[in-house]
Amino acid sequence: MPDRRPYIAANWKMHKTGTEARDLIAQVAEGIGEAGPEVIVCPPFTALAAAVEAASGTPIRIGAQNMHQEPHGAFTGEVSAGMLLDLGVEVVVLGHSERRALFGETDELLVRKVPAALNAGLEPILCVGETEEERNSDDTERVLTTQIEADLADVSGSELAKVVVAYEPVWAIGTGNTATAEQAQEACALIRGLLAKRDEGAAATVRILYGGSVKPANAEELLSQPDIDGALVGGASLEPDDFTAIVRAA
Ligand code: PEP
Repeated sequence: MPDRRPYIAANWKMHKTGTEARDLIAQVAEGIGEAGPEVIVCPPFTALAAAVEAASGTPIRIGAQNMHQEPHGAFTGEVSAGMLLDLGVEVVVLGHSERRALFGETDELLVRKVPAALNAGLEPILCVGETEEERNSDDTERVLTTQIEADLADVSGSELAKVVVAYEPVWAIGTGNTATAEQAQEACALIRGLLAKRDEGAAATVRILYGGSVKPANAEELLSQPDIDGALVGGASLEPDDFTAIVRAA
C-alpha cells in the first residue's frame, strides 16, 4: 500500500479577522511543532493574506474555502484561482456542503472548478457527502457515486492523484453526530473504489479525508481506518488545543 501522508485541514468557515487569524495560526504552529501530517488552514478570504504571512516559516499551508471557475471577468464578489495563488494560497476547498446547500454550488460548477484549480496549481479539496434523508433512504452510495463521477469528470487520470477528497456526511457537519468509524471507512473505501475505476495508481495515492464533528476524542479511531487519510475539521479547528490534538492523533 502506498504511503499516504496524513492530511489535516481546518475549515474556519466565516470566523476570524486577519488579526485573529495571525494569533490562531501562531498558537497552532506552536502546538503542532514539526508535525508529521500535512496541516492546512482555510480562513475566510479577508484573512488569507494575514494567514499566509503568519504561516510563513511554519509547516502550515493556507487554503481558501471557495473560488470561481474562470480566471477573470464580470463576476462581482468572486475570486479566481490566480488571485489566490498571488496571495501565496496553495489549497482550495471546493463543493463544501454549506456552499452546495446555501449558495447554489452544483456538480455542473464543480466539474469546471476542480480542473480550474488544478490547472492554476492549487490543490483542490473536493467535498462530497450525503444528507441525513439520503442516508436514511439507503441512497448514500448513489449520491457519492454521482458527486465523484460528476465533479471529477474533467480531471485526467494523471491529475487525479493531486486531488484531495473529503467525505463529509451533511448530517455530521456541525451537529456533534460524528459518523462511526465503520460508516466513515465504508464511505471512504467506496470513494477510493470509484477513483480506482478511473486510475488505480491515482486511487492508491489520493488522500481521502473524513469531515463531520471531528474532535480530539474521536479523531484517533477515525484516523486509524485504512481508507481515511486525514480530516477536514470545522468547529474544533477554531480551538487551538483541540485542533493540535487532532493533528497529533493523525
Ligand atoms: C466542516 O465544516 O467541513 C466540518 C466538518 O465542520 P465540523 O467539524 O464543525 O462538523
